[in-house]
Amino acid sequence: MDTKLNKYAKLLIKKGLNVQKGQPVVIVAPVDCAPFVRLCASAAYDLGCREVVVRWVDDFLTRERYLRGDEPIFDEVPEWFSHFHNDYSEAGAAWLRIESSDPEALKGVDPERLKRSSIASGKALKPYRLRQMSNSFPWCIASVPTLAWAEKVFPDLKGEAAMNALWDAIFSAVRVTEDGDPIKLWDEHCKKLKERKTRLSHYQFKELHFINSLGTDLVVGLPENHFWEGGSEITQAGLEFCANIPTEEVFSAPKRDAVNGVVVASKPLVLGGNIIDGFKFELKDGKIVKVFAEKGQEFLESELSVDEGASYLGEVALVPYDSPISNTGILFYNTLFDENASCHFAFGEAYPCVKNGANMSKEELKAAGLNDSITHIDFMVGTADLSITGKTHEGKEVPVFVNGNFAF
Ligand code: ZN
Ligand code: ZN
Repeated sequence: MDTKLNKYAKLLIKKGLNVQKGQPVVIVAPVDCAPFVRLCASAAYDLGCREVVVRWVDDFLTRERYLRGDEPIFDEVPEWFSHFHNDYSEAGAAWLRIESSDPEALKGVDPERLKRSSIASGKALKPYRLRQMSNSFPWCIASVPTLAWAEKVFPDLKGEAAMNALWDAIFSAVRVTEDGDPIKLWDEHCKKLKERKTRLSHYQFKELHFINSLGTDLVVGLPENHFWEGGSEITQAGLEFCANIPTEEVFSAPKRDAVNGVVVASKPLVLGGNIIDGFKFELKDGKIVKVFAEKGQEFLESELSVDEGASYLGEVALVPYDSPISNTGILFYNTLFDENASCHFAFGEAYPCVKNGANMSKEELKAAGLNDSITHIDFMVGTADLSITGKTHEGKEVPVFVNGNFAF
């Protein structure tokens, strides 16, 4: 176990963040994960980082704050909090975020409070988010088990047994084994994703048509000069990093006003400490005009209304149904894992996946067809019978997905 933990910490620091000599490192993590965070910090110092700054978070305290804090705090963001994000990102710090929350940590919290907080922090942290979306600093999201989360994923197991089962599932998803070299495996994996994204970018599809038996029938327009991303990415300073560990997706940005039809979610979504399930959207000229959810509709509607761009799509991502995380059959109740087991979209902010996008202003990105919002929420749509057909500007149709998997 110790060997695997050390290998995992090194993988995140070296392959995930690619920490450089003299670079500040920020780690945001649940306090329950302190032993693992210490391993990550040591791995960063081994690479000669400037210092490691940790911001601890805690599900219990977050929940208490939302339930019992004074009313005005949900519209305010303290200056130290804005400075923390905006200043460290401006300094080019490497950011590691450990996401391991109890999927229902905020069950019972007033959705209005969540919405107001999300609007306030969206505005205050805009410079940070902009730098993150355009890769001006390296960042990585990863997870380690926490008890409440593990027992949700494995409802038949309790305590340590649930924790061990989730550790096994995570180690296998991130390619960490007792005797293998995860960094080498990740290099090979990223190479494969690179071939896929290069191929898709080369087609320059005008639109993709998604159809499956769940009821998804959606045409997704793509902007001119778009490209596909995935696997490792490159910072503006030219350094390779992996924004998600694990990752199985290649993704791009939909054309803001060119998405039409119905899309049905194929997995539940954990949205800010609440579970949304059995939901679908109807889109017209890019905008989500109808929302239906069997569970959690109020939280979904609340997030879709944080600003105008929240009800438009900002990401289209392709993941084969027959791929490592999907094949475990485990529902993780954690977007990092569930999105990498399934084709997905995000509503909200688009990554600047158009030629020269990283250097464009908000207005230029909008003119290029990309959506702008303070939110970005992935939701899963992939199934075993999903078909995706690409249509080129010349009207040629190309099968991209057949029966849930890449056709090429
Ligand atoms: Zn994605
Ligand atoms: Zn996303």
